[in-house]
Amino acid sequence: MDYLRKPLSREQFKKYLFDDFKQRREIDKIVLHYLWKRKENYFWGIKSLIGLDEYYKKQDRTFAFHLCVKDDDIWIAKDLNERPDQSGDAKINDWAIALECDAVIGHRPPNKKTWKTYLFVISMLMKRFTLNPNHLFLHKEFHEGDTCPDFTKEFLLKELNGEKHEK
Ligand SMILES: [Zn+2]
Repeated sequence: MDYLRKPLSREQFKKYLFDDFKQRREIDKIVLHYLWKRKENYFWGIKSLIGLDEYYKKQDRTFAFHLCVKDDDIWIAKDLNERPDQSGDAKINDWAIALECDAVIGHRPPNKKTWKTYLFVISMLMKRFTLNPNHLFLHKEFHEGDTCPDFTKEFLLKELNGEKHEK
């Protein structure tokens, strides 16, 4: 199955991550983002991905992030073996997976379904790449003045601990 740029269920995402993904680069960080538009329902699935792709190309960049979640759906925007091109430290990009979620900045959490899916994806990535909370980074940690994502690491860890996700 081709997993790229289509809405995946949790089961499909797990199958991709644990059975079908063949890792070809070192991954030791997850960088967390929110999509930045102050607008409801910013993420429109494939249309948004095509639009963002063009936007990054115009800036002479490659696609910024790997994954995006909205409601129950998980979108793989870019192969995890490719380097992300999120703004910030280039060295961080070399080893990172970049995760976005559809959200309205200033609302925390985004919406309950999306937030739960976001937590699920983080927890699966941590299992797959044997990462611990020290490997989780918020975009704003290395991009001063940024508000992305709009939560603290403390809040995130508390939320992650409250969820039980079986592989
Ligand atoms: Zn960001």
